[in-house]
Amino acid sequence: MEDCLFCKILKGEIPADKVYENENVIGFNDIAPQAPTHILFIHKNHTSNFNDITNNDPEGLVQVCEAIAEHTEKSGLKDAGYRVVSNIGETSGQSVFHTHFHILSAPRLGRFGS
Ligand code: 5GP
Ligand code: ZN
Repeated sequence: MEDCLFCKILKGEIPADKVYENENVIGFNDIAPQAPTHILFIHKNHTSNFNDITNNDPEGLVQVCEAIAEHTEKSGLKDAGYRVVSNIGETSGQSVFHTHFHILSAPRLGRFGS
């Protein structure tokens, strides 16, 4: 996807602070963190949102989930506690239309917004 920001990060056209990478998935720090830890996990294959990856690349979805589990276990985030968020559609706050999962962690995260 030529105009997709996260595909550009995957191609190395835009720099990113990567914290995780395997054959299929990368994790990188969000450029505008909303919590002390704010990482984005994406699959290397482009899909546009959670429903798209679920319906059209379920294996890819599992690979992203496994990468999140692996990274959060190795880095201590699982023990510290963290939240996974995926915005679907503009009204939810989605601004990049390449499926991504926000990993948020803080000593005490606020509750969900309205
Ligand atoms: P969304 O709003 O679609 O749920 O999440 C997109 C996220 O991508 C936002 O939290 C935003 O801060 C982050 N973001 C936007 N542009 C860049 C960028 O160039 N690099 C990085 N690392 N994150 C970005
Ligand atoms: Zn993309």
